[in-house]
Amino acid sequence: MKIPVSEIFYSIQGEGKFAGHPSVFVRVGGCNLKCPGFGEMGCDSYYAVDKAYKDEWKLMSVEEIEKEIGKYLKFKPHLVITGGEPMLYFKELYPLIERFRGVVTIETNATIEIDFEKYPKYKDVVFAMSVKLSNSGEEYKKRVKKEVIKSYALNAPKSFFKFVVDRDLKEEIEDVVGDLRNKIYCMPLGSDKEELEINAPFVFEFCLKNGYCYSDRIHIRLFGKKKGI
Ligand code: SF4
Repeated sequence: MKIPVSEIFYSIQGEGKFAGHPSVFVRVGGCNLKCPGFGEMGCDSYYAVDKAYKDEWKLMSVEEIEKEIGKYLKFKPHLVITGGEPMLYFKELYPLIERFRGVVTIETNATIEIDFEKYPKYKDVVFAMSVKLSNSGEEYKKRVKKEVIKSYALNAPKSFFKFVVDRDLKEEIEDVVGDLRNKIYCMPLGSDKEELEINAPFVFEFCLKNGYCYSDRIHIRLFGKKKGI
């Protein structure tokens, strides 16, 4: 089956553990959540989530995706698969994961179960588990799937947590993470530079106080809502 792709581009990773690293991004279309709490359009990648933009998504085979990302391989980039929610297509994406030589990060809301024994190469993937908190506007039972989170965290141990924060959400973060040992990154909520700058000082202090890693959002700071960055 082909995969709906919203965009493929070469850029600098703006968030999380690999912030600052040159990366080739494959952004798939479609998500199982909506996150109405994030910005006036809901999710900040609304054009890869909202079905109104479906006509802009290109159905691509893994071979076609590989050909496109191959243009940037001389830079030895990380491969970042993002969305939308990439794990909607975990079966279709698997040959790409098996064949890519280098670090693969998958940015996911960690709500979709994967069989790590049947698809063992996912154990080498770095899952950026951006589990949604109450500020996403999603219902708890849709956004927090503890068994799925545990399975990603333990089967793919290089994975980390990445939370969007705009107030003291420590209790919610602790509830999601439990006794898992994967690193925790918090980044300021903000769909543009102004909103990011309002929330950043609080998140900085919040990280210091709780021993979490602070992550900025380089692409929003530099380019706001621009696509393909
Ligand atoms: S889970 Fe991520 S991609 Fe999906 S709607 Fe929420 S913020 Fe957007």
